[in-house]
Amino acid sequence: MVKVAVIGAGLAGSEASFKIAEAGYEVDLFEMRPKKMTPAHKTPYFAEVVCSNSLGSFEVGTGSGLLKEEMRLLGSLVLSVADKYKVPAGGALAVDRVKFSQEITSILENHPNINVIREEVKQIPLNYDYVVIATGPLTSEDLSREIQKLTGSEYLYFYDAIAPTVDAETVDYSKGFWGDRYSKGSGDYFNCVLTEEEYEIFYNELLKGEQVPLKDFERAVYFEGCLPIEEIARRGKQTLLYGPMKPVGLIDPRTGKQPFAVVQLRKENLEGTLLSLVGFQTKLKYPEQKRIFRLIPALKDATFVRLGSIHRNTFIQSQKVLLPTLQLKSNPKILFAGQITGVEGYVASSATGILAGINIVRMLEGKEPIIVPKETMLGGLVNYITTEKEELQPMNPNFALLPPLDKKIKDKRKRKELKAKRAIETMKSFLEKEKILLQVH
Ligand SMILES: Cc1cc2nc3c(=O)[nH]c(=O)nc-3n(C[C@H](O)[C@H](O)[C@H](O)COP(=O)(O)OP(=O)(O)OC[C@H]3O[C@@H](n4cnc5c(N)ncnc54)[C@H](O)[C@@H]3O)c2cc1C
Repeated sequence: MVKVAVIGAGLAGSEASFKIAEAGYEVDLFEMRPKKMTPAHKTPYFAEVVCSNSLGSFEVGTGSGLLKEEMRLLGSLVLSVADKYKVPAGGALAVDRVKFSQEITSILENHPNINVIREEVKQIPLNYDYVVIATGPLTSEDLSREIQKLTGSEYLYFYDAIAPTVDAETVDYSKGFWGDRYSKGSGDYFNCVLTEEEYEIFYNELLKGEQVPLKDFERAVYFEGCLPIEEIARRGKQTLLYGPMKPVGLIDPRTGKQPFAVVQLRKENLEGTLLSLVGFQTKLKYPEQKRIFRLIPALKDATFVRLGSIHRNTFIQSQKVLLPTLQLKSNPKILFAGQITGVEGYVASSATGILAGINIVRMLEGKEPIIVPKETMLGGLVNYITTEKEELQPMNPNFALLPPLDKKIKDKRKRKELKAKRAIETMKSFLEKEKILLQVH
């Protein structure tokens, strides 16, 4: 008898288990709560939303909205239950968190093909046909050690230090220049230039910026981890000029001189559609980041597709160890899903859970696992986390992950609308072509 183990009944593990069980295969679903709680979860329920009760915008012109539309096409359990227990929240899908999680728990606990085992998994159970590891950002210590052994110790991170990322199409390239320090490299950095006056204004606002309070369990990480940009600034007015904003080794070809200060933007993907602010990891509140970082002249009208943060977060370097099917390269019977793969947030985590579930079903049916097209939000996200790069920091769904349109469209809203249309059409024809049958509730 074929058997699959899913470790972790969070958002991703719930989606994966449901897909596999609905296809008629038996699942042992391991969840350590309530016997052992994480520092953020408060209930014994599956798919608990640990902080905000919002699953983001309905609007398909947003990364999260488009991903949700695709998840509906893929038959998402999380979304069908969220729709049932939604609470008014303007343009966002917010849920009654307790009823939402209770219902998912009840559906999975009562499913004839799911056997729930309330135990902490300390060793990866290799006696199953397939295993999904979906233990999330707060994976227990013992299992983290096992994952480290499985992936190689340098490929499991225990916290993220995210610098903001902008949509490359929204940068004002007249306010800086491309080039590497000391002209070493292939000119991949864009250097946003600041004059002394511009730096002064930026610096003063950075010091005033409001920060996100740290959770107790994050405090240690914060001091060990790389310092947020605002903390570097607090050490003195010159410190940034010797750190992430140093101009040394850079000559502005427009003036032939070294600028007073620079902020370097680095390509985050091969297509160059995403640029991140090098060394700008931060704990500033999101609206403050937008206000302050837009004082950098080249970023005055920039769209921030991801804002900076520093969190406790267990995640693997998927770009080194995972295939775009979410299988582990070194053992394709093991799949990873959820935030542990380097995606970020409730919706992206759930979506990768669906993909892991579909792929296990495909393999059990003797078919090839799928690689979702890059033109879709799910495909773009998975492509991002599994494409070779030096270091992976978590990524949320956003439009800059999608390949550019054939025609250049200046208007941001129109551009997103067309990319969203292309994504949905691509997903529909892909599912049809692959004959992926979906359950609708
Ligand atoms: C403090 C905090 C606040 C957050 N706020 C938000 C927010 O506002 N909005 C948002 O979109 N995202 C937020 N996130 C991120 C969000 O929680 C994750 O994106 C999402 O829950 C990930 O889903 P997952 O299924 O990968 O992991 P989880 O939902 O965390 O599920 C993992 C499950 O695995 C279980 N588990 C762990 N180790 C073991 C083990 N060894 N054996 C058995 N079971 C185990 C856990 O108990 C848990 O139930 C926050 C995260 C944290 C930590």
